[in-house]
Amino acid sequence: MRDRTSARWHVGTTILFLLVTAGCDRVFPKDHIIALEGAALIDGAGGAPKPDALIIIRNGHIATVTRVNEIPIPKGAERINVVGKTIIPGLIDAHAHVERWAAGRYIAWGVTTVRDLHGGTDTVLALRNAMNLGSITGPRMFTAGAMIDGVPPTYANATGVATADQARRAVDQHAVAGVDYLKVYTKITPALLRPLLDEADKLRLPVAAHLGRTDALSAARAGVVSIEHMSGVVQAATGDPSYAVAHNSFLAGWTTEEKGWAGLDSGAVARTARALAQTKVTIVPTLVVHEMLSRLDNPILLARPGMEDVPNNAESVRSVPSLLRRTGWRAGDFAAFRRSRQRQDQFVREYKRAGGAIAAGSDAANQLLIPGYSLHEEMTLLVAAGLTPLEAITAATRRGAQLLHADSLGMIAQGKVADLVVLNGNPAENIAATRNIALVMIRGRVIRPDSLRATWK
Ligand SMILES: [Zn+2]
Repeated sequence: MRDRTSARWHVGTTILFLLVTAGCDRVFPKDHIIALEGAALIDGAGGAPKPDALIIIRNGHIATVTRVNEIPIPKGAERINVVGKTIIPGLIDAHAHVERWAAGRYIAWGVTTVRDLHGGTDTVLALRNAMNLGSITGPRMFTAGAMIDGVPPTYANATGVATADQARRAVDQHAVAGVDYLKVYTKITPALLRPLLDEADKLRLPVAAHLGRTDALSAARAGVVSIEHMSGVVQAATGDPSYAVAHNSFLAGWTTEEKGWAGLDSGAVARTARALAQTKVTIVPTLVVHEMLSRLDNPILLARPGMEDVPNNAESVRSVPSLLRRTGWRAGDFAAFRRSRQRQDQFVREYKRAGGAIAAGSDAANQLLIPGYSLHEEMTLLVAAGLTPLEAITAATRRGAQLLHADSLGMIAQGKVADLVVLNGNPAENIAATRNIALVMIRGRVIRPDSLRATWK
């Protein structure tokens, strides 16, 4: 009898113990620790790769960055041997137009953060929230919502403003909707830009600019934080007001300006780069856009590597024929665009030499621009323009984080978010090595690109 009671008590306490510890497991999950052992580390700060790195990741953050054998591996850590590989911070696409299908593609190509610069406000905010909460596997997303343009706006889902009051109201409405920053577009004049920047400053919203009616120097001095596509630079370099006039129509503006680069003399390019660098504005050159538009008549680009990740129904990337119809561009136009490329490259080089900040952006998923992949193409073009591979990597990591005021991103250091990419080769020797990805980590979660690809193939 006594034994039975005791046995019952014992079973009871055991069950109680199991229940309590099971409960504890849910409330206090065990630390999730990963040790990446032996890779060369490019940490995003701009320095040379550090050999034999040991990176300890604890619960989605970087706990320790040191050398192998400097400290013992914490007990219970998942150990990943990455000897012979190179680790870079998770890539940041500083100019994107994110579509839902593309979410996984960004991750597969190592892009763990995107700076979205226009979409219908409701659509992009919903997508941002879904990705940031983790209900869609995709990069961390920041967004401008709908861009703010003059009237009539170039795109139907943009916000058009005609007066200073409307410009201020558009800023207020975007702030209430919950955007992370603002994007102004080509028809915004200096008279509209001033009140818009004043209102944005009160609400602490940075303003990114794709310029047309306003030249780059005026916009940078007025306080925009970034200039997209190097827009407004030709006008600033020439002082020729006909460029602003051409931007009454988006297509005429783009075509005129894109051809205008070729006519710039190298002294004017250097002077403009130095003057712009003094304003501290960040340039997001999107060389890959200029390159693709200058070769839009080449059908091979629709079959280049990377395109296999783009679904057949992804109109935004694949609709080259309709763009050709809309623009009416012919062989002579493409030849003129190609002549401009060397001046654009010179501007990037001079901007870097003057100490200006350059961030890498792709403009995907616009025509021929592949979400994720085209950021690697941009890095390659930045190197061709005169950046070192390490500078190109900084442009695609640290500079993007600085532009987003996202202090915990863009670098591999203690306390930062564990967003990183493990490469099979060494991009400091050859920038193309950024495309050869072994694994991607976002918020400390390991993702193998091949297994991700299997979910959409
Ligand atoms: Zn864009």
